[in-house]
Amino acid sequence: MYDPLVDDFPGPAQPHVRSYWQARHGAELAQLPNANAALPEHADIIVIGGGYTGLNAALELAERFGQQVVLLEANKLGWGCSTRNAGFAMPGTGRLGYGDWEKRVGVDVTQAIKDEYEHAFARLQRHVDACPAGLEAQRGGYLKIAHNPQAIESLRASFNILKRYEPATKWLDAAGIQARVHSPQAHAAIHYPQSFGLNPLLLLASVARQASAAGVSIIEDAPVKQWDRVEQLHRLHTGKGRICAPKVVIATNGYTPNHLHPSNHGRSLPVLSSVIVTRPLTADEKIAIGLQSTELVMDTRTLKYYYRLLPDGRLMFGGRGAIRGKDAHHPRYARHLLEALRGTFPALKELTNAPPDFYWSGWVNVALDNYPRIYTPAPGIFTSMGYCGAGVTFSQLAGQRLAELAMGEELPALPFYQSALPKFPLPHLRRVGQWAFYQLARWRSL
Ligand SMILES: Cc1cc2nc3c(=O)[nH]c(=O)nc-3n(C[C@H](O)[C@H](O)[C@H](O)COP(=O)(O)OP(=O)(O)OC[C@H]3O[C@@H](n4cnc5c(N)ncnc54)[C@H](O)[C@@H]3O)c2cc1C
Repeated sequence: MYDPLVDDFPGPAQPHVRSYWQARHGAELAQLPNANAALPEHADIIVIGGGYTGLNAALELAERFGQQVVLLEANKLGWGCSTRNAGFAMPGTGRLGYGDWEKRVGVDVTQAIKDEYEHAFARLQRHVDACPAGLEAQRGGYLKIAHNPQAIESLRASFNILKRYEPATKWLDAAGIQARVHSPQAHAAIHYPQSFGLNPLLLLASVARQASAAGVSIIEDAPVKQWDRVEQLHRLHTGKGRICAPKVVIATNGYTPNHLHPSNHGRSLPVLSSVIVTRPLTADEKIAIGLQSTELVMDTRTLKYYYRLLPDGRLMFGGRGAIRGKDAHHPRYARHLLEALRGTFPALKELTNAPPDFYWSGWVNVALDNYPRIYTPAPGIFTSMGYCGAGVTFSQLAGQRLAELAMGEELPALPFYQSALPKFPLPHLRRVGQWAFYQLARWRSL
């Protein structure tokens, strides 16, 4: 599997991963009207990366700012995380909760961050409305579950802060959560009613159709392999030829090759996140686990597990994956998720004895200080990355903010927009640090 810290660029022309989403709705991504025209020699602005961030940026640049935009995707649109994710649409991004933000930036800025998350939800709703199937939204909210009794106290403390910002959230004690999720690893929970489950591939297709209708030229199978300057212009060398522009948007996130541009080197850690999807549960199995088909669930482990019942009754269960791309497909990682699923729902013993119907992984982008940045790393270059695995909702707005930044508009005075992604100390040792973190987290979550 492509590895951003090892390979020079992804692709070209790699097919989509064999995911549950792809198996059901792959045809949605078939030829778009403006897709795969010949590569022009010039553009007003080039967007690298055909996921949510890149497509939203391109859409905004073409629709609102009237720019001639060329979007370059190394493989097929949505080949990265944007068709591989679990479809949890939640407020927030990165790994910082409101309590962490209050300590860093105070109550007023934290409230402004919360308002920004609302803008992201509003933009996501635009894409829901533009999709005939409504993105197959499952609107039962999200449950954050204390996976053991020791986790209750800190979950309760975070709830006490959270309810100042999101008053509709509810606390569920042991009896309350056991009534909804029959698991020995469910001891208390916070319910967030605003969150919902969606079909990530339909979301990608919805944004892509709008971008295409706005006039964006989408070029697939065109990895950027080399980057130089011709006077004031950036010149990108792709598998399909060369293109120049005064401005370039980098929207490659967890798939960013380590040396795409000197300004991005060593500023993020690509981390593999993996999911399994089981066969459809029987009626008895559904009763045994109690889970409703409308709820999203995540636990309180440092390395979290998350799950949801899909519209056709299958169970999706996710967590961390391998460290290196070359190990991503090793059967032990699917086995590890099956074992974790069995620990969560012992009643599914028979189901977890068989291999899952689907297993896949993708690279999420982790920032050193746990939150993303949208910034100008070098003259004429604009980027947004570092969502730390929470990008389905936020990336919709991030693309818009990225377009505004590229067009010289002032962004809200929030931490996401005020600095560059910090560089990792000793970047060549990022994976050694990640391995050590995994060992520690596993020991602490027992
Ligand atoms: C298994 C999994 C589950 C997840 N679940 C959730 C979830 O439930 N909720 C949530 O909020 N987030 C989730 N995420 C994270 C979320 O999917 C991402 O944050 C989001 O999709 C990022 O979108 P993006 O457009 O920034 O990047 P991506 O969708 O990853 O797109 C980047 C694109 O850049 C392209 N690219 C890279 N280099 C080049 C180059 N040199 N030339 C041209 N193109 C290039 C790649 O091919 C890729 O298509 C999950 C991620 C994974 C892997």
